[in-house]
Amino acid sequence: MERWRRTSFMLKRSSSSSTEGKKEEDASISGGEDGLLGFYSDNQVVTLPQGHRFPMDKYRATRLLLEGDLQLRSILTTQPAPLASEEELCLVHDQLYVQRIFMGTLDDQQQRAVGFPWSPALVDRSRASTGGTVAAMHAVMQGSRRMVAANIAGGTHHAFAGHGEGFCVFNDIAVASAVSLRDYPHLCNTQSPILIIDLDVHQGNGTAKIFENDDRVITFSMHGANNYPWRTKMKSNYDIDLPDNTSDEEYLTILTEWLPHLIELHEPSLIFFQAGVDALKEDSFGRLAMTRQGLLRRNNMVYSVCLENNLPLVITMGGGYSRPMTASVEAHADVYRSAALRYGALRLRGNLSVH
Ligand SMILES: [Zn+2]
Repeated sequence: MERWRRTSFMLKRSSSSSTEGKKEEDASISGGEDGLLGFYSDNQVVTLPQGHRFPMDKYRATRLLLEGDLQLRSILTTQPAPLASEEELCLVHDQLYVQRIFMGTLDDQQQRAVGFPWSPALVDRSRASTGGTVAAMHAVMQGSRRMVAANIAGGTHHAFAGHGEGFCVFNDIAVASAVSLRDYPHLCNTQSPILIIDLDVHQGNGTAKIFENDDRVITFSMHGANNYPWRTKMKSNYDIDLPDNTSDEEYLTILTEWLPHLIELHEPSLIFFQAGVDALKEDSFGRLAMTRQGLLRRNNMVYSVCLENNLPLVITMGGGYSRPMTASVEAHADVYRSAALRYGALRLRGNLSVH
């Protein structure tokens, strides 16, 4: 079965040209070009009011932790994220909403729902956070051998077409999906859809709503049943509601069953992994009880299923609100570190140990 799925995918991916097909054949051996390419947007500095509950510093802290990790020296490349264009944003978002964000003319209620005070820096930061996911998507889709790329930000899955909420201005995964559908229709379509695996502790309500009537994008959200959103939960293609205090073993048992099933059923062309770490038991918002080790196993499950099926993968950040933020930053860094090690180890033909 594994072999059949891989063959099936390779045929689809190589249908555009024989050269591209050869590249992909090579990628299945090497695991990608350079380990992990990660885009960051913490160079766009947003200063929040004193006492604001959003841990804005975690992005920079995560990137610095990764860049200072000597074992990643040859297998992790970081680059500043480009800003998403208005045109890209408007593939998903209402033009009026985008313009109000750009100009700072949301009304007070809309601004409160977003959760951040407006500033010019917030606009650039939100555009970069989205642009990083778009750039990561292009990195794995534009015919290169790269099979994984990441945004060390993004995962802003509570943003809807016409409004933001829950610290989410623009929906980066939705925008990157829409750009992919526009630019790579021979790869991403109803026969071989995009699969969004959202493992943040909060439901990916904005993403679910945006794609509710689009069978080119399959949404899978596994989240705490009693977590936000309470009044604005939407219907994903698949919603897995987990009870409070769900443990590593309970969580991973469910995920182990679902991931191969999703791949077999939908034969996706591209995977987005929203790798929120707010399922940690230390998280101040999340109601689950996972450990850092459990999240690491979770990440590797996603990477394994993508590698086994030769599926291009885009990783984004997601929630992480431990106090102090150290536990969240370590768990965020694990997401990228384990991907770099996993994909980099393939490139080096098993010379590196895989976490
Ligand atoms: Zn979250």
